[in-house]
This record gives sequence, structure tokens and C-alpha cells, in this order.
Amino acid sequence: MRGPAYHSSRRAEFKRQGLCVRCGKSSCRQGKTDCKDCHQRERRLVEGREANGLCVRCGKDAQPGRRKCAACLEYYRQRYHSACERNGKSSSRRVPRGPQESVR
Ligand SMILES: [Zn+2]
Ligand SMILES: [Zn+2]
Repeated sequence: MRGPAYHSSRRAEFKRQGLCVRCGKSSCRQGKTDCKDCHQRERRLVEGREANGLCVRCGKDAQPGRRKCAACLEYYRQRYHSACERNGKSSSRRVPRGPQESVR
């Protein structure tokens, strides 16, 4: 039985069962939502994009000297900006690294 909601709830179901939300096969790593294989594949993809000067998030042309494109930089900046405001920290401070497993 595969109703219309099958695909939309698939990730949530995998997560609930402790399975990788990407492939649904292997069990995910502790505290993560994807398995080691998917993590390594993603890592290789990101490294390949980085090496080619592409946005590590979406694969479009990255901004010079950056790892992300303008759209993704803006996306992360807004996320960090709101997070920083909530923590009462200065938003001008550069956040060292993006959340690696934040792709939902
Ligand atoms: Zn997987
Ligand atoms: Zn991008």
C-alpha cells in the first residue's frame, strides 16, 4: 500500500526507524540522519564541487573565494543572523563552518 503520502512521509519514517533518510537501507549513524555510505558519498560530492569552484550546497558557481554561491551564502547568513540574535552575539562575527548535515 503506497498512498500519496508515502513519499512525503518516507524520510520521517526512516528517521523514526533509525534508518538512513537518504537511502533507507543502512542504519544511520548515532545522532545523524544518514548512514556512513551516504555521508561519504555526500562528502566526495562536496569535495568535488569545492575543487571545481562550485557551491558545495547546490553545485552552482560559487562566489570567488567562497565555498557557496550568492544565494546559498545569503541563505546561511540569514540563518546565522537569526541564530546570533537569539544568542545575543554579534552578527558581524564570522561563523567558522556551516552545519554539515543540515540538508533536509
Ligand atoms: Zn544511506
Ligand atoms: Zn548554492
